[in-house]
Amino acid sequence: MERKVCVGEECLYHEYWLTLAAISSIIVLLYSNKGYGYMQVSVSGPNGGAVPFDLHIAVGMAAEHFAKQLGIQRLHTTIMIRIHQQALFMGDCEGLCEVVDERNFVVDVALWCNWLSTLAHEMVHVKQFARGELSTDMTQWKSRRHCGNIDYENQPWEREARRLQGRMLEDYTINPGNPTII
Ligand SMILES: [Zn+2]
Repeated sequence: MERKVCVGEECLYHEYWLTLAAISSIIVLLYSNKGYGYMQVSVSGPNGGAVPFDLHIAVGMAAEHFAKQLGIQRLHTTIMIRIHQQALFMGDCEGLCEVVDERNFVVDVALWCNWLSTLAHEMVHVKQFARGELSTDMTQWKSRRHCGNIDYENQPWEREARRLQGRMLEDYTINPGNPTII
């Protein structure tokens, strides 16, 4: 019986599809192998477009690491991370966490600063909303009512985010992919 062997262009074509299949498997493994009830992370550009593949993987891995440190990776949440390379949308802001509801979040991260540190900071806000520590209208913090007149710098959720982001980043730098619970 004759076996068909691919040669030349046909072979490249074959390899192309194999590579594509391998890349898809990695993405599926990274983001979807946790099953129902786990955090789902998507990474895109400002308008939902693709970002470079290595950046996509780096952001996804860091987000997963930070979620594990914060103990929220098993919460059924979706986090859409949008990466900004230009200041068009963000202005002088380095990061934002927008609450769609207590299960769905949009996190904006600027690349012109220490984006890992910013991502860690915003993931703390995701934790605060997802755990109900901070109400989605930001009037309630850990069962205490807030008047809303506190300076940004002194808001307790901002103080917590600033306090934790450095530790989270340090742990990620030392043990990427092997998080210590904070
Ligand atoms: Zn903040």
